[in-house]
Amino acid sequence: MRAERSGPEQELPARLSHWIGGRAAPGEANRLGDVFDPSTGARTRQVPFATPAEVDAAVRAAAAAFPAWSRTPPVVRARVLFRFRELAEARADVLTRLITDEHGKILSDARGELARGMDVVEFACGIPQLLKGEMTEQVGRGIDSWSVRQPLGVVAGITPFNFPVMVPMWMWPVAIACGNTFVLKPSERDPSPSLEVARLLAEAGCPEGVFNVVNGDRETVDALVRHPEVAAVSFVGSTPVAEWVHRTASTAGKRVQALGGAKNHLVVMPDADLDLATDALIGSAYGSAGERCMAISVAVAVGEVADPLLDRLAPRVRALRVGPGTDAAVEMGPLVTREHLDRVRSYLDVGLSEGAALVVDGRGLRVAGRADGFYLGGCLFDRVRPEMRIYQEEIFGPVLVVVRVRTLDEALALVDTHAFGNGTAIFTGSGAAAREFSSRVQCGMVGINVPIPVPMAFHSFGGWKRSLFGDHAIHGPEGVRFYTRLKTVTARWPEAPGGAEFHMPSSRTH
Ligand code: NAD
Repeated sequence: MRAERSGPEQELPARLSHWIGGRAAPGEANRLGDVFDPSTGARTRQVPFATPAEVDAAVRAAAAAFPAWSRTPPVVRARVLFRFRELAEARADVLTRLITDEHGKILSDARGELARGMDVVEFACGIPQLLKGEMTEQVGRGIDSWSVRQPLGVVAGITPFNFPVMVPMWMWPVAIACGNTFVLKPSERDPSPSLEVARLLAEAGCPEGVFNVVNGDRETVDALVRHPEVAAVSFVGSTPVAEWVHRTASTAGKRVQALGGAKNHLVVMPDADLDLATDALIGSAYGSAGERCMAISVAVAVGEVADPLLDRLAPRVRALRVGPGTDAAVEMGPLVTREHLDRVRSYLDVGLSEGAALVVDGRGLRVAGRADGFYLGGCLFDRVRPEMRIYQEEIFGPVLVVVRVRTLDEALALVDTHAFGNGTAIFTGSGAAAREFSSRVQCGMVGINVPIPVPMAFHSFGGWKRSLFGDHAIHGPEGVRFYTRLKTVTARWPEAPGGAEFHMPSSRTH
């Protein structure tokens, strides 16, 4: 990914910047990464990778903005978000086009991503209601007590490539509405939407330094998560990095939520409506080329359902319309980079060597006029067993594996013993089976006849096991808790001194 510096004779692609203290900051020219259009394979932009000094400048800008922003009335902070919402709605086409240009997903999916992100902005617009504390009059005689939630300070967000607008919006609207200031490190593979968001926030009246963007790689992340003035870190990305961020930032005394990878199972019971289950599997396994943390990547076929399910799935996978995300007729775009495409393709060899049956092989796909685009057709494995790597590891591409089991208990055991526990779903006509599954399953988000059960903005999003490190899920009420800390005040206004008390005060003595 690292670019060689181009000579003057070469045409340079557009050069992106950071956003520090309310304005674009160019970054150093000797640390640049390439950004590609995955639909053509062409390098379209270059992005600077922030040095520790640039990270420090962003954190200091955020720290300088914190005192005034944290004392700004919540209702006034919310008004900035209301104005941002209006501006972002008006610029929705620009934002969605930037997502598709750098990520590759189809435009309608990019629009959906923006909409789900904006749900969190709308949730954060209600912050005056959410920050109301609790008060008890007369906890003792003449004594009142109240609890408030106060912001933490500078908080950092580190985000993955697969939702360049929505995942940052899981974080910053709630964080800044609560009175924190924010430093975002978006994915270096699709950084442009975050810079557009920064410009829109400035136009909406967000004070300088409240929202900052540093672009970069692991060196940038390292400087950010260790910075002494960063009070909390929200991370979303792959499990190894999530685990490292959690360990490193926790050791440095910071509050951390680190969301990791996934391998989401969809259990198809023998009494399920198979057409419904097939539609659900096709959309959730191949939508966004499988590059979703809530994508279904394992279909668990219970009892005799496997053969009829395969009969329905295979022709639909072969018929997927794959091409550039800007083509309205296309259902599935390219993968994000050539490196990721190669990694996903390598799992097809792994699966074959492990003895799984490759029912649909997408490697032969050719997209007309796009020979260098990062495309892979839909792939479908049958007869996959739990000990195989293609079952255990997150592939993060358009590869669905089918595991055959005999009973609901066996299906539950599969989900429960898997290392990841992000999302899961059951398709069934039985309320009793659905209730049993949703109650017992060891997973953070559960769908009943819903393949991708992503909680709405006013609930909270988060997995279990190796899909989330830390104590809080993201956005919604959990987000408010994460980005604030509790203070409880106990007050008395005595008319005359009552003398020293040497016992533990209690309501029995006051
Ligand atoms: P990634 O872990 O490679 O990158 C995430 C972020 O971490 C990026 O900003 C990147 O620059 C940074 N990073 C990468 N390697 C690093 C390192 N060694 N040290 C420090 N920082 C590093 O993830 P990705 O490929 O961008 O995104 C895909 C992954 O994100 C998948 O595993 C997917 O499941 C996961 N994801 C999870 C959720 C969730 O809610 N659980 C949501 C979206 C994506």
